Amino acid sequence: MSALADAHAPPETLADHVRDQTGEDVFHCYQCGKCAAGCPLAAEMDYSPQQVLRLLQLGLPEVERELLGSLAIWLCLTCEQCVTRCPQQVDLPKIMDDLRRRSRERGLVHPRARDILKFHESFLSTVQRNGRLHEVSLIAQYKLRSGHLLQDVLVAPLLLLRGKLGILPEKIAGHDAVKRIFERAASGHEGAETHRHDGAGAEGQP
Ligand code: SF4
Ligand code: SF4
Repeated sequence: MSALADAHAPPETLADHVRDQTGEDVFHCYQCGKCAAGCPLAAEMDYSPQQVLRLLQLGLPEVERELLGSLAIWLCLTCEQCVTRCPQQVDLPKIMDDLRRRSRERGLVHPRARDILKFHESFLSTVQRNGRLHEVSLIAQYKLRSGHLLQDVLVAPLLLLRGKLGILPEKIAGHDAVKRIFERAASGHEGAETHRHDGAGAEGQP
């Protein structure tokens, strides 16, 4: 393609980015609303699952920024109810996952989603360290990261007494394989970060 043609090429939209990263084409959605009708979190979301797709279809930078700063993308549970209902097999949880990643990269995480993000980070950290989830480590890390030191503090002793929580983590046989997955994910993320810093930087603070 010539430089002149490049200069006239439309800028990449968030929908393009989603398609490149997930293989999902948001234009397959014809706004029937079945996903929103079945979503267990739709009533709590600032944009319903159906609206999230419509906003992506618009391809307007300001609308995309609003979407990346929405609470809806962080409330999605990845339950896949919407996928099973969708006549077009649009994989919304996959799209939501990519929007969360993009939201974080651009520093647009919704203020009410910051604890959710801290929970995600704590969860992944304990899986990376032990090869599997260790609940006590998860709780401790989440409390330190979020600052909610006293939240549910009376519940933990009961769970420990009933043997529902293991004090020490158990290592799994495939721990090295799990570590390699994290290393590969981190190197991919660094590549994306380098690419991003060649272009636009973060727009806000998560
Ligand atoms: S169910 Fe599928 S086609 Fe219907 S609005 Fe939701 S994503 Fe779009
Ligand atoms: S996967 Fe997310 S968007 Fe889809 S129904 Fe579940 S919570 Fe709602």
